Amino acid sequence: MATMPAPLRRLVEQLTRLPGVGEKSATRLAFFLLRADTEYAQALCEAIAALKREIRLCSRCLGFTEQEPCALCTDARRTDEVLCVVEDPSDIMAIERAGDFRGRYQVLHGTLAPLDGVGPEQLKVAELLERLRGGAVREVILATNPTVEGEATALYLAKLIKPSGVKVTRIAHGLPMGADVEYADGVTLSRALEGRREM
Ligand code: ZN
Repeated sequence: MATMPAPLRRLVEQLTRLPGVGEKSATRLAFFLLRADTEYAQALCEAIAALKREIRLCSRCLGFTEQEPCALCTDARRTDEVLCVVEDPSDIMAIERAGDFRGRYQVLHGTLAPLDGVGPEQLKVAELLERLRGGAVREVILATNPTVEGEATALYLAKLIKPSGVKVTRIAHGLPMGADVEYADGVTLSRALEGRREM
């Protein structure tokens, strides 16, 4: 690293912060970009800049969107009565790819992880409760990942929501323990939603 020209070193440092990218891969990518045509490097820069410039959180579901509110929140063919609660915006895209769910979404932006200092205040729990106060939701489907944190978060939310009389269900374990909603295939996700059980 010390012998690298400064701009190359800076890029390697930035790339190393990407998930799953170690210094070796980062160096390989940086050299690839150095050799690539200027147009490609500029297109990549612009694509990254556009992410931050054009995508924001939808004020209703807290998913990623270009328009406010997002298309899923405004689609009149979807029902307000069923609300699917997920950990991350990317989970919405996975469930939408499966294609069967016709309700609305709410994103928590994480799971409870007391050991890492993530409590209910760090998640978008208040926003979820506020949405339920609107009165339209009849069923909440807790679609957090089947991990220890995902299960703990689902239990916590079930306890919090049930006194309000809203039905609370949990997606079935068609998902293998430890698997992410985001990476499940469509059929597995459809089955997991279909086989949900009341909490
Ligand atoms: Zn939305």
